[in-house]
Amino acid sequence: MYKTKAYSAASATSPLSSATIPRRDPTDRDVQIEILFCGICHSDLHQVRNEWKEVMPTVYPCVPGHEIVGRVTKVGSAVTKYKPGDLAAVGCLVDSDHTCPQCEAALEQFCPNMVLTYNWADKHGTAPVTYGGYSNSIVVDERFVLRVPSNLSLAGTAPLLCAGITTYSPLRHWGVTKGKKVGIVGLGGLGHMGVKFARAFGAHVVVFTTSPGKTEDALRLGAHEVVLSRNADEMKKHAGSFDFILDAVAADHDINAYINLLARDGNLTMVGAPDKPLAVNVFGLIFGRRSFSGSPIGGLAETQEMLDFCGQHNITADVEVIPIQKVNEAYERLVKSDVKYRFCIDMASLKSE
Ligand code: NAP
Ligand code: ZN
Repeated sequence: MYKTKAYSAASATSPLSSATIPRRDPTDRDVQIEILFCGICHSDLHQVRNEWKEVMPTVYPCVPGHEIVGRVTKVGSAVTKYKPGDLAAVGCLVDSDHTCPQCEAALEQFCPNMVLTYNWADKHGTAPVTYGGYSNSIVVDERFVLRVPSNLSLAGTAPLLCAGITTYSPLRHWGVTKGKKVGIVGLGGLGHMGVKFARAFGAHVVVFTTSPGKTEDALRLGAHEVVLSRNADEMKKHAGSFDFILDAVAADHDINAYINLLARDGNLTMVGAPDKPLAVNVFGLIFGRRSFSGSPIGGLAETQEMLDFCGQHNITADVEVIPIQKVNEAYERLVKSDVKYRFCIDMASLKSE
């Protein structure tokens, strides 16, 4: 074991602060990575504040962060894909059982024995739970390390590891392509990536936002139309017209307002994960044979496919790069939807602590 610097939360009500955490020494299959950038996902905030306590209670201390880009510093003797000096990325998954039907289908995100990057039982026993990317260094099985396209900015690439794959995967799964009308609800970290991908796939893209100040940005990011979702008349104009809607809202909201915008056989997929149940009016589903579903991140192969797609199409997240000392301030801004459109921590700022 060795020690590295990190930012951790001691309880649901304490701010994140400087700490030292243990990491395992790389085993044969492991890659040790010096973390250069780590995006801030709203899931980090949900978990630091134990807002998902009914589904995945937070174990403290909690070191969040699952949008990791860095440079390889050491590799185990059996590692074949990476060598010291290479760029490398890590997302929300750091392990799975590799033998179940889900893993065999390259859908590790559904493996019953998957291990998430933080706040998950650590099967190596280095600590009670895994610790994430708000840290200077991490050690990960090479099968869960991803290649970074060489032409993209590193800070803009980090958020692709969660916000990117979480929106790319359901857009692909539900066949978003040219000729489809697609809605993206919530212009935050996930939402703005959803807009970029839906546009790149050729769809007609409509953004639904509660923030009038984000209209111009939504158009610049690739939307064809922007709807202020709190304006009932604007919403009504789109009734029954969408093939697919991706909802990336982190808080309670009226889901029926969006179900009613779906065309026959249209689908509304939740990637946003509000802590409280949403009240679905089933008549909205019945009339129109519409469906309502959810989607978690994506498997390793699809995550690499998404990164390569981003390399080919020059797609990155729009980031506000911050030093780690501003992380608590960034969380307060996330709660207020004041994000343009992903905070990304420059991890060099942690070295000086
Ligand atoms: P974010 O950057 O904070 O963006 C959320 C956006 O939702 C806000 O910017 C805002 O957009 C909108 N919003 C916030 N409060 C709202 C309210 N009360 N009513 C309506 N709209 C509201 O968050 P994120 O990092 O993109 O994450 C979004 C959600 O996805 C979180 O719940 C997160 O935990 C979840 N998530 C899920 C997965 C998965 O695998 N399924 C992966 C990552 C994250 P406007 O200003 O445009 O209204
Ligand atoms: Zn995330």
